[in-house]
Amino acid sequence: PGSRRFEVVQSEGGGPASITFDDIGGQEMAKRELIEALDFVRQPERARRLGIRPLRGILLAGPPGTGKTMMARAAAGYTDAAFLVASGSQFVEMYAGVGAQRVRELFRRARQLARQRKSRTAIIFIDELEVLGGQRGRHTSHLEYDQTLNQLLVEMDGMSSRVEDVQVLVIGATNRVDLLDSALMRPGRFDRVVRVDLPDREARLQILRLHARNRPLAEDVDLDAIARETFGFSGAHLEAVINEAAIAALRAGRDRIGAADLREAVDKVMLGERLDRRPTP
Ligand code: ATP
Repeated sequence: PGSRRFEVVQSEGGGPASITFDDIGGQEMAKRELIEALDFVRQPERARRLGIRPLRGILLAGPPGTGKTMMARAAAGYTDAAFLVASGSQFVEMYAGVGAQRVRELFRRARQLARQRKSRTAIIFIDELEVLGGQRGRHTSHLEYDQTLNQLLVEMDGMSSRVEDVQVLVIGATNRVDLLDSALMRPGRFDRVVRVDLPDREARLQILRLHARNRPLAEDVDLDAIARETFGFSGAHLEAVINEAAIAALRAGRDRIGAADLREAVDKVMLGERLDRRPTP
């Protein structure tokens, strides 16, 4: 993967395709905690006057497909921030120094984009943070990982001493908090951890409703029953259920999604046939 380019930039906030917290079903606690943290980012002056240390990093921790990426996008919209997306695996290279160089480049770009926005804010979202931020000294080619992780720490620490008035917030996502290097969790780095867990029944219902809202449902459909039957499903699984049900309806020549289509879709997703093929946002 020596030549993998670094495609990270995506401007978010206000655009017609942007996601808001209302598009995320369930996760009430996580949303509340995240919004509370983002309110400091929206009012940096106020926070500064109170002597509150600027928020540098928020960690979203939880299983795959629970809406962590959606949360980060909603956060960018909420703060009117430029939004940059990267994945931990994009920093892993076989040549020493390349990963660290990419981290530097990412933050430089973030500051540049922040400067162009009225909010003077950028959010960097790093998915699979454990790949980049795993415990130092535990990898076979640890030298490269160490340099990359160290560079991330340097960038996050350095943000507070910068004279320019831009804010760069890092939102990391992981489903393996246990693997993260403890240096990442120190004050001034990822000092907020927001748990994004699998949805309970009520949350599953909300998520099903969200994904069904623009689709024609037959009268016999009972989303409540589907929510009850889908214990252990993530938001991504539930999205797949609705999508599979629509496909089943189409295949059967119906123009509405019926109860039988949904039941078939639940079985299909439960069998795991499509678990690995859910769309990435
Ligand atoms: P991963 O850790 O695998 O990257 P993730 O937690 O970032 O997963 P998302 O990429 O945000 O998960 O979610 C994938 C898709 O699943 C979303 O695009 C959406 O369609 C659906 N989804 C997941 N969680 C929710 C939710 N809480 N409400 C509505 N839709 C959801």
